[in-house]
Amino acid sequence: MDCKILIIKSSGWFFLLLTALLTVPVVFAQAGDKVVIAHRAASGYLMEHNLPSVALAVAMGSDYIEQDLVMTKDDQVIVLHDPTLERVTNVAEIFPGRNRQDGKYYALDFTLAEIKQLHLKEPYPNSGRFPDTGKNLKLTVPTFKEELELIRGLEKTMRQDIGIYPEIKQPWLHRKEGKDISTAVLKILREYGFTSKENKIYLQCFDPEELKRIHDELMPALQMELKLIQLIDDNNGNETKSLQWGEWANYNYDWISSKSGLRALSATVSGIGMDKSMLADEAGNLLRPELVSDAHSLGMVVHAYTFRREKESLPPYVVSFEALLEFFYFKVGVDGVFTDYCGDAMLFLQKRSSGAAAPVSREKLPSQPTVAPETPLSPAAPLAAPVSEPESVTEPVVEPPVAPSTTTAPPQIPISSPVPASGPAMAPISKPVPASESTIPLSPAPQATESIAQPATPVSSPVEAKYR
Ligand code: CA
Repeated sequence: MDCKILIIKSSGWFFLLLTALLTVPVVFAQAGDKVVIAHRAASGYLMEHNLPSVALAVAMGSDYIEQDLVMTKDDQVIVLHDPTLERVTNVAEIFPGRNRQDGKYYALDFTLAEIKQLHLKEPYPNSGRFPDTGKNLKLTVPTFKEELELIRGLEKTMRQDIGIYPEIKQPWLHRKEGKDISTAVLKILREYGFTSKENKIYLQCFDPEELKRIHDELMPALQMELKLIQLIDDNNGNETKSLQWGEWANYNYDWISSKSGLRALSATVSGIGMDKSMLADEAGNLLRPELVSDAHSLGMVVHAYTFRREKESLPPYVVSFEALLEFFYFKVGVDGVFTDYCGDAMLFLQKRSSGAAAPVSREKLPSQPTVAPETPLSPAAPLAAPVSEPESVTEPVVEPPVAPSTTTAPPQIPISSPVPASGPAMAPISKPVPASESTIPLSPAPQATESIAQPATPVSSPVEAKYR
């Protein structure tokens, strides 16, 4: 026992965890082509964005591990969801007074050496997630290189490809600070061997103009050709602003919703990612029933975010986390989900693909228009007849807007759920198992009254801690 404590105190705890996890057989359980994206690593089990959490997500067999990327004052790329540090670290305690006028502590104002002095904290301390005491477990903000080195190492020892799903956060904000985050990220990816569409990587961003720049200029210059994902926001400017007539305006994504818009987008990206509340309303009706089939007909994948098992995060039309997965994978027809609970999602797909009865109660699900396919689509699958937008082959291509627009937010799913979550226990490690955020705040499990969402900040604020 003393020996064990000694090892743990000498920072070997991480390797103990890793060793334990790596001794477990890992299996790739999928239902067809459906994938699980570990949202901010295994964030539902062990805080977000740190190396042990990455190891855990890998051990659970996740198809892809997500990295949100921002830059430091000294041009290092770190894995951090928000451009600011206060939500997930003790920065206010270690560096009092280093905040900007909006009260936030921007990573762009700190060197990597300073950020490495900070300790991570569980951002949802009362949600029933990891019991972070803040005493002895000192997890730190990883660099992108550290995370890639860990993943490449695990690929070797576990003899498997591990997918990564990095997100370039707010390039417009970095540009205002004189930093080119996209070039910095691409150079690191190239250094670690991610150069072609054959590599298991999706590179995601909310900024369509930046993705076009990456596709048309940056990747050709670096002899790279990666699969890109266009993330779609709800026009509130939380994620993307564009310079219009000398002013930073909220980006309007409405042009992407039509098939002509998707066709224009398909010249640049391999898929789209969007909040699940943009695909189904709170009654479970499909909001854009043609979107998924349109995207598939253009060879694009559709990934949705963010899937959580806490009952407060379940939309009212499902009775469990598994029912939610069933609905989006096999009714809406998405190809992948970003989830804090990668282990549970992998177990769900494993059971689904093995033919076992899905651990969900379907009878309470409302009837849905049979527009979305029931089974995984291949890009070559025939396009379902457009429901609202008949078009001809000669349809003009829609280009991205060039003028600022007003905000038109889609309906949001209420956080309350009339039924308790009934998800299974966390996927047993001994069994094979393989996102702005969501605007859905997590609440303490029993009380459901104490929202721990970030306080709203004005739209005019340069950055808003919206959880993606
Ligand atoms: Ca993200």
